Amino acid sequence: MANLTIPTELERHIDEIITHYPPQHKRAAVLWLLHLLQEHFGYLGEEQVEWTAAKLGLQPINVFELVSFYPMFTSKPRGKFHIKVCRTLSCELAGSGRILDHLKQKLGVELDENTPDGLFTISTVECLAACGTGPVMMVNDELFENLTPEKVDAILYRIKATGRLEREPLPAPQAAHPLEKRILLANASRPGYTGSLADYEAADGYQAFRKALSMKPDDIVHEIKESQLRGRGGAGFPTGLKWGFLDKKSGKPIYLICNADESEPGTFKDRQLIHYDPHQLLEGILISCYAVGAKVAYIYIRGEMSLGAKILLKSIEEARAQNYLGRDILGKGFDCEIHVQRGAGAYICGEETGLIESLEGKRGYPRIKPPYPAVIGLFGCPTVVNNVETLANIPFIVKNGAAWYRAMGVPGSYGTRLICVSGPVKRPGYYEFEMGKLTLRQLIYDLCCGLKGGRTLTGVIPGGSSMPVLKPNQIDVPLDFESLQKAGTMAGSGGVIVLDEMTDIVNATSNISRFYAHESCGQCTPCREGTLWIEKMFHRIQEGGGRPEDVELLYDIADNIDGKTICPFGEAIAWPVKAFVTKYRSEFEKVCRNGEATDANR
Ligand code: SF4
Repeated sequence: MANLTIPTELERHIDEIITHYPPQHKRAAVLWLLHLLQEHFGYLGEEQVEWTAAKLGLQPINVFELVSFYPMFTSKPRGKFHIKVCRTLSCELAGSGRILDHLKQKLGVELDENTPDGLFTISTVECLAACGTGPVMMVNDELFENLTPEKVDAILYRIKATGRLEREPLPAPQAAHPLEKRILLANASRPGYTGSLADYEAADGYQAFRKALSMKPDDIVHEIKESQLRGRGGAGFPTGLKWGFLDKKSGKPIYLICNADESEPGTFKDRQLIHYDPHQLLEGILISCYAVGAKVAYIYIRGEMSLGAKILLKSIEEARAQNYLGRDILGKGFDCEIHVQRGAGAYICGEETGLIESLEGKRGYPRIKPPYPAVIGLFGCPTVVNNVETLANIPFIVKNGAAWYRAMGVPGSYGTRLICVSGPVKRPGYYEFEMGKLTLRQLIYDLCCGLKGGRTLTGVIPGGSSMPVLKPNQIDVPLDFESLQKAGTMAGSGGVIVLDEMTDIVNATSNISRFYAHESCGQCTPCREGTLWIEKMFHRIQEGGGRPEDVELLYDIADNIDGKTICPFGEAIAWPVKAFVTKYRSEFEKVCRNGEATDANR
């Protein structure tokens, strides 16, 4: 083993984490190990890589390829406090560029340079899933929101004065608007609710799980099918149907994975459910495991949501102490464990097969489908992957029945949906309401109180940055799966990004394109080459080197990625570029015709 001194307590923790995975798949613990070693040593050099490889029975190259793939890992020593400023669209619209300039000027360093005292390094980072409170930055694992230059100064001052990093307290949950119908956020909205097990039980928590344990698993699957619950991660696939595809005859263990890798720009809803009501999610996972026959579930949470991971780990221990998890749960003969796995900053791990690869301790390369995870998933076993919000709905359906659930929403889109809004509205944030009962206009002008400073709306991205943009004359669309599809876009991940007259549309499209170019895993030629080509074209156009034929060329490149790749990421870059170029053609033509340099979004 490499010549590295690991504190006994840390090694004990590492050994315990390795037990969360089947012995023949202990490689799966590698991301956790790398997070812990980076936290301890500040970086992942050769010695850390070799030690990890030896610990898990791997070759160093198997570990090094992960350090180079996952953006949260660094092989170079950084300052003691690594400041990462989000540069993705919602944060850029909120002024992250100014925050970055202020930091550079204040600390006297450029990007990725260490300050001479070794205290600080400044970097940019892609979306931190806090789009409604931008600009945001992380310092090491801590998130700081609603930044202003003054707030940044105060944070730097405190760090310098104390040599420590203090976590910001979790803000109180956002107050409900009268047009909302809060089901998933109902507990969190109660005054004084802390999300502890005691609070959750006092609000009838785990009663649905008790009921489920007295039901036949197939009856639960039937109830979920009857409810017509659709997945809330992006694709909107019917959950009961997905469960029904599981290969239960293979004799292999069945796994359930909760996809908490919320990383689509504009989306920050799942983190609210995790932060404010973690037991609701755990109860949903436990019922789902019982229904599909899984004895182990993994929550794959994005690496940047370290507070969420800590909250989940604490809640799992609380639940275990009350025998809601473990062996012979509540004396009903059901065994189940839930483990938390931290991602490490790769957007593509939100795609279910990329996530499975990552959970297995590899690069997050999406797999060619079929076979689908329901047949060959985690560790080669049948696996179901469900999103956080989807799973949080399960206790309510089991408790109240499918008919109760279908009484909310509209045909094809039943129940409530969490929608989060960022951009220049007066009241950005997250909202829960019945699907199809409110329009995009009501969301923007009633719930979000309209645009700041009475500005004019120029566009809305309705479901995360990969969804086609809508023009202002299209916002009377009801917010449900079918209506948005008829309007030529998709409900996606529920992340609404508002654009106004101050938004430079060419820059906004460029920002989105840069994000996807950064996040492409590189397996498919159209995606790998096309995203970089688009990014380079935008760079040239924004530098003043645009040519009239570039407008058509941008569309053409995007169109040549669309539908020609292993995973839906190809569409994620193609759809927004095609929609922006088509709907705002004159703005692109103006920049390309005149060869004008454009400013960053103001
Ligand atoms: Fe990777 Fe892009 Fe291909 Fe998806 S489409 S597998 S992200 S290269």
